[in-house]
Amino acid sequence: MLNSFLDLLFPKTCIGCGRFGGYFCTNCAGEIKQTELVCPFCERASLGGAVHAVCKRRFGLDGLWSLGVYQGSLRVAIQKLKYRWVREMAKDLIDITLEYWVKNPPILLDRIKKDQGKAWVISAVPLHPARQKWRGFNQSELLAKLFAQNLGLTYQNTLKRIRNTKPQIKLLSAERKQNIKNAFELAISRQLSDVSILLVDDVWTTGSTLKECCYVLKRNGVKSVWALTIAR
Ligand SMILES: [Zn+2]
Ligand SMILES: [Zn+2]
Repeated sequence: MLNSFLDLLFPKTCIGCGRFGGYFCTNCAGEIKQTELVCPFCERASLGGAVHAVCKRRFGLDGLWSLGVYQGSLRVAIQKLKYRWVREMAKDLIDITLEYWVKNPPILLDRIKKDQGKAWVISAVPLHPARQKWRGFNQSELLAKLFAQNLGLTYQNTLKRIRNTKPQIKLLSAERKQNIKNAFELAISRQLSDVSILLVDDVWTTGSTLKECCYVLKRNGVKSVWALTIAR
């Protein structure tokens, strides 16, 4: 009731073309430029985004899947979600991702299905509590929870941020790695050796945040960690 009333007052318009109805009309959703899938270690092309055999590291990511290039309407949508606090945007972004998955099932989905979904846990890059309080929500957690719901998988906060780091966006690549080091620790006490984790974040830039999260999870016994981002 309240939602439909708000829709009347502030009708949603397409980010791409301004048409009324939703944040992405069918046309503009179809025009999102897909990213090439790359190995999370060397960022060169790789089948399905799986890490190359030679790039595999003990505590490194096993794969990376991203929807689109961080440009145009996809960039605007993520910025609205993150900086303009448009929470409903998360649903549109996940809907577009899943529609794409239906048409182009990724290798990652095969892996999830092989385990019948049982062993996979969806998790998100956590914000520091102070930042989350300021923003009111964690955009990565919103995306991850919607994703888990739609796939019928479990969502869990597996990590917590123990240092309030500088926003990565203001830093160079080498500084980002240093900035994020030791920023996370495990948020749960359960045994993790029997699960695979899919870590969700909004954007992959240098990957230093997701790599650091993966490092903490694998140091604590997780065997397989993939990253999924909306843009790269
Ligand atoms: Zn449009
Ligand atoms: Zn590689």
